[in-house]
Amino acid sequence: MTVSALIVEDAALALVHKDLFIGGQWVPAEDNRTLDVFDPATGEVLCAVADASPADGRRALEAAVAAQPGFARTTPRSRSKMLIRALELLQERTEQIAAIMSLEAGKPLAEARAEIASTGDFIQHFAEEAVRTEGNYQVNPVSGGRMIVTRQPIGTAILITPWNFPLSQAARKLAPSIAAGCTSVVKPAKETPLTLLAFAEVLKDAGVPDGVVNVVTTSDSNGVMEPLIRSGLARKLSFTGSTPVGVKLLEQAAEQVLSTSMELGGNAPFIVFEDADLTVAIDSLVMNKMWNAGQTCTSANRIFVHSSIIDRFQEMLVERMSAFVQGRGTDAGVNLGPLINARQLAAVGAMVKDAVDVGAKLVLGGSPLPGAGYFYPPTILRDVPETAALNRDEIFGPVAALIPFESEEEVVRRANDTDYGLVSYLFTEDLRRAVRVAEDLESGNVGLNRGTVAYAAAPFGGVKKSGLGREGAKEGIEEFLETKFIALQL
Ligand code: NAD
Repeated sequence: MTVSALIVEDAALALVHKDLFIGGQWVPAEDNRTLDVFDPATGEVLCAVADASPADGRRALEAAVAAQPGFARTTPRSRSKMLIRALELLQERTEQIAAIMSLEAGKPLAEARAEIASTGDFIQHFAEEAVRTEGNYQVNPVSGGRMIVTRQPIGTAILITPWNFPLSQAARKLAPSIAAGCTSVVKPAKETPLTLLAFAEVLKDAGVPDGVVNVVTTSDSNGVMEPLIRSGLARKLSFTGSTPVGVKLLEQAAEQVLSTSMELGGNAPFIVFEDADLTVAIDSLVMNKMWNAGQTCTSANRIFVHSSIIDRFQEMLVERMSAFVQGRGTDAGVNLGPLINARQLAAVGAMVKDAVDVGAKLVLGGSPLPGAGYFYPPTILRDVPETAALNRDEIFGPVAALIPFESEEEVVRRANDTDYGLVSYLFTEDLRRAVRVAEDLESGNVGLNRGTVAYAAAPFGGVKKSGLGREGAKEGIEEFLETKFIALQL
């Protein structure tokens, strides 16, 4: 790394507020407690941020609740303008925020910039949706009076986000909640708090009123958030993260009958039929599988390839996956970063070992890189048996698991043989088969001859244990609105 690169990184880190953001103010945690943020490329500490206590969390929620009635009365147009201003500021600060995101999440700078650009799309989309919430007025067919149906902000929301996309996962919740007129407390993952703190500053500078967005960083997610969820002060819980944590939060949310949106884990099947355009399928797979070093909820987990083309497919994949340059995300030329932490490195290693132990062939990679940081190399497994753990659980690493299949009926059955249902991908040039299989796959999203499905204008979300509700599209703002019916007698 060059000295000038180090200066840019230090300057970017120095610019971020490290305190809690409560009621529009940056405030230290109780007893000035802090938690360290690590660089996954070296394992070293980058800096420390405030480590909130349950009392800090309570203060943040009270600030959000106090701001709710006033914010609900602001006009949709004024909220839309705040979001447009936030978009402009985010674009202006792209380089600073991309550097921070790359440092704490380990992702290559180009991916960090792409995440900021796609987050911009979400912010713009919800700035436009803010002024399009609809109501209804009609004659009551029975009484002859009038029926008014209107939409209101659901109320204060608790938002909990994961480390893998620290900006976009938060903005998919914050932008629609602001558009709808809701206040919130948002808790980022302890691995990646800096990006969200930088985004909170963007929102503040964009004119989002004090108390509307409050950020709590903590090493004690459960201790801080459970009392807030159970408090009765919030009306909404929106969570993105793993299914086991989502299940636990649903149980907590049940006590106050909170409205919940759950974006949970995935186990995406990626199906390549014998008539697929192999170049398109390989391009899509490499992009999908290697993005964020495979630590993506939409990442292809089980790659089903028709037995008649699997040898050629494997050959092409080895060539492409071997070409990745792995290193620290901020270093020039790097297009594959480390995994997020030692736990994740061990989990990916164990998943690969398990597959090999039950009979899979190791074609490429397969052992963590020696030295500092949490680097796992591009890895390809072939002929992964049904008994391998990766058929049931997310790999969350740069590991492509190839599984041969013979028939459409067989592959659809195996693709659906999972508790999850976030995304499926299928590649075929046969239109009838494409529609038939896309409709039969049990997932909230299907990529048909493409390896990405996340767009601001598309409703993204899972079925089965992958979640409840949708983010993006019109549905994304609906998650933060309540329907009210007013019966009017004349
Ligand atoms: P995680 O469930 O461990 O953590 C997610 C968030 O929940 C973090 O902020 C964490 O601190 C917090 N958390 C953990 N335990 C908690 C508790 N008891 N109470 C309150 N908060 C708690 O998930 P992760 O490892 O950060 O993210 C990876 C997971 O997220 C994967 O399963 C991935 O598939 C999923 N994910 C899903 C989507 C989607 O859109 N469906 C998007 C991104 C990631």
